[in-house]
Amino acid sequence: MKYKTDMSTPVRYIKGVGPKKAEVLSRLGVNTIGDLMYYLPRRYEDRSKFTSIRELKVGEYHTVRAKVLASGVFTTKRFIPVFQLTVGDSTGILYCVWFNQPFLKGKFKEGDTVIFYGKAERYKKLQMNHPDYEFLSTETDSIHVGRIVPVYSLTSDLSQRYLRTLLFEAVNRYINVVEETLPTYVRAKKKIADINFAVRNIHFPNSFDALEKSYKRIVFEEFLLLQIALARKKYGAKEAKNGLKHAGGDDLMESLKKLLPYELTEEQDRAIREVGSDMASAKPMNRLLEGDVGSGKTVVALYALLLTVKNGFQGAIMAPTEILARQHYMTMSELLMPLGINIRLLISGIPKDKKAQIKEEIKNGNINIVCGTHALIQEDVIYNDLGLIIIDEQHKFGVGQRDLLRAKGDHPHMLVMTATPIPRTLALTVYGDLDISIIRQLPKGRRPITTFWVEEDRRNMVYAFIREEVEKGRQVYIVYPRIVRDETTGVKAAAPMYNKIQDEIFPDLRVAIIHGKMRSEEKEVIMRKLKNHAYDILVSTVVIEVGIDIPNASCMVIEHADMFGLAQLHQLRGRIGRGEHASYCILIGDPSNEAAERRIAKMVDTQSGFEIAEEDLQIRGPGEFFGTRQHGIPELRFGNILKDFHVMEDARKEAFDIIAKDPSLSDERNAALRKSLEARFR
Ligand code: ADP
Ligand code: MG
Repeated sequence: MKYKTDMSTPVRYIKGVGPKKAEVLSRLGVNTIGDLMYYLPRRYEDRSKFTSIRELKVGEYHTVRAKVLASGVFTTKRFIPVFQLTVGDSTGILYCVWFNQPFLKGKFKEGDTVIFYGKAERYKKLQMNHPDYEFLSTETDSIHVGRIVPVYSLTSDLSQRYLRTLLFEAVNRYINVVEETLPTYVRAKKKIADINFAVRNIHFPNSFDALEKSYKRIVFEEFLLLQIALARKKYGAKEAKNGLKHAGGDDLMESLKKLLPYELTEEQDRAIREVGSDMASAKPMNRLLEGDVGSGKTVVALYALLLTVKNGFQGAIMAPTEILARQHYMTMSELLMPLGINIRLLISGIPKDKKAQIKEEIKNGNINIVCGTHALIQEDVIYNDLGLIIIDEQHKFGVGQRDLLRAKGDHPHMLVMTATPIPRTLALTVYGDLDISIIRQLPKGRRPITTFWVEEDRRNMVYAFIREEVEKGRQVYIVYPRIVRDETTGVKAAAPMYNKIQDEIFPDLRVAIIHGKMRSEEKEVIMRKLKNHAYDILVSTVVIEVGIDIPNASCMVIEHADMFGLAQLHQLRGRIGRGEHASYCILIGDPSNEAAERRIAKMVDTQSGFEIAEEDLQIRGPGEFFGTRQHGIPELRFGNILKDFHVMEDARKEAFDIIAKDPSLSDERNAALRKSLEARFR
């Protein structure tokens, strides 16, 4: 019987792959010929030329071909076994060293020819530590030597040589089963290599130039599919005609201005107009409002909520913490209660019967606006007629939670807000389907915050500084990484330091403490008293990271600043500089590694959230950038959002063009594209 081979043919039909190897390959996620073709090398070695030992440059990576001269195991002073190999070529001698792997001894025999890849170092002798290695059987092996050679990630029971040989075979025999998905017109326009060339050369490149073209082609395709999916989502939402048209946005803008005790900044003004025009249309708003801490996003939210209420709908605003939800509740009720708008707070920390009462009123429509936490998306919360949902600090929520709240209404408008300025790089992928408004400038009259970095041993200066601030009538935050002391690390903590600060350091000042383990009523009392200036100093953990707004607090001391993330430091610092006073942020810490030092240096250097976010992204990478939560960063198999950003931009433009002309991809020329899109985002 003859099978037609295609991308989905199982790998075991390839010559040389038995059931055992097929199973090993499947551990790498390789089950079909298609999987194999797209199992891309981890890196490449230029074995078209080796570096002779004499020419090795210390500190650089090289590939060396050498013969094993001697080997042995010895033990260091700390009793670690070290396997050492002495190898040589016609120009010199090199030592290869592995710690803690004495079993390697059996692997190498005198006279073996071996290829080593690693960083050349010089201690007493010329040496490579833990180099990659590969045995050469014959010196004229055309797959493994004499070319740019692919190096793959392996799993146990699979050798580099085996996998490379398998790919060589597969590429030679089956390259034609790899299907082209990019339309010819796109490839021609973008000068993009065809898929057969790309797959062949990504594994066995004829030159580095061919490799680069191939890589770009494969990454472009991946990004294009992603962006097409986003474009369709965005256009799909735009097409929907079942949104709730909100009237009267312009009038409301005028009356809001009269209501506010300050003038809107230009960018607040623009963001509000953008929101107003979204809500006036029949398509549900799907907008991200991005603005640094303190830039004044709340008033935009306030406008949207008012607009929905005026139009007879309910509005909900969800925040990640109780403190923040409460803060919104306080701000909004101050302005809205006098207008006869019924606004309530729904968080888990309120008494049961009161909660039931609120839920009842949400259901019967008595409540116009509800501020809350995750409590808002609980199953038993039923809204009467939800016209607008707002999600604050939205990166703290998962995409699923956002959708849950949205599903509580019938195509409600949605505004998501974030104080984490999102580097453009990520905005295109993570929020690629949202419209974006940005507030970059802070309200007028804000005094810049001066940030200092102080080492541990100057702590007394810091205390003196705090006292000066308090004597000027200001309030001070002192932040610690945790609540209780961890005896093993000696890291200072809020609870013990609170006692020390109150009893020993500032016995004459009024000191309070707040942290995440306190009940929400307790926290509320403290926050209120702080606002009324009943305290001079607030000792705290990161619970104050979001949402606290006390303009008179002009100074923040962050202890063990090296233990905080950059985004967190920036958020914390955003708690000060909110009033008309000159503000100071003092970072205490002795950073023990380069990343920590970079974080602190950046904080001292700039106050711009956008700059800080870029640096954070560079230090941590996209996955970590948003923390551990479900963040909606797409899983990419080939491309790298940071490294390949320009390809992403390019692909995005093309994708939006394609979808603008052919929204459902029904054009024959886009058929292959549609098929692979369906396969990928089923
Ligand atoms: P965030 O963007 O961090 O949510 P907020 O909306 O909480 O910022 O605003 C921070 C502070 O700035 C609040 O006290 C608010 O009243 C004030 N504020 C907002 N807009 C202006 C403005 N245009 N002029 C002066 N103060 C403003
Ligand atoms: Mg806010």
